[in-house]
Amino acid sequence: MARKCSVCKHESKEAIDRALIGGEPLSAISALFRVSEDSLYRHRANHLSKALVSAAESKEASAADELLSQVQDLHSRALAILVRAERNKQDKVALQAIKETRGILELLAKLMGELRNQQTFNITLCPEWINLRTVIVNALDPYPEARIALVERLVQAERRGVTQ
Ligand SMILES: [Zn+2]
Repeated sequence: MARKCSVCKHESKEAIDRALIGGEPLSAISALFRVSEDSLYRHRANHLSKALVSAAESKEASAADELLSQVQDLHSRALAILVRAERNKQDKVALQAIKETRGILELLAKLMGELRNQQTFNITLCPEWINLRTVIVNALDPYPEARIALVERLVQAERRGVTQ
């Protein structure tokens, strides 16, 4: 015996559903649409369509992807500054860029750890690859020209990876 749900028959049902999915406080939705918090609670628990909920979840997943590629882009830019500074023998700027790059890598690693299970595999986001890349780049320390060329290629390759 389903009772009539005041939310389901509400003329603004879709807007209410969106607000519920968006995580608006029930008290705010209640005040806005003039439905009781109890009704909202019941409706959310029993009627809010699963399709809508999963749509919201996948929106979160793509927001996470977006965040990751922004951080990755930031990392590419910091690397590019590093390359330029090294080329122009601006040691102070280079040191600053190294510090920036390391901070961004730490953020990236943290994000990846948190998101790992949701991500499709992307080698440029893989901590093992980031470590390996650092080893390769550092090994070329005695050969600045080769090192700069390598880093530039890596940045280009990873950029392509980001935008694909
Ligand atoms: Zn309902």
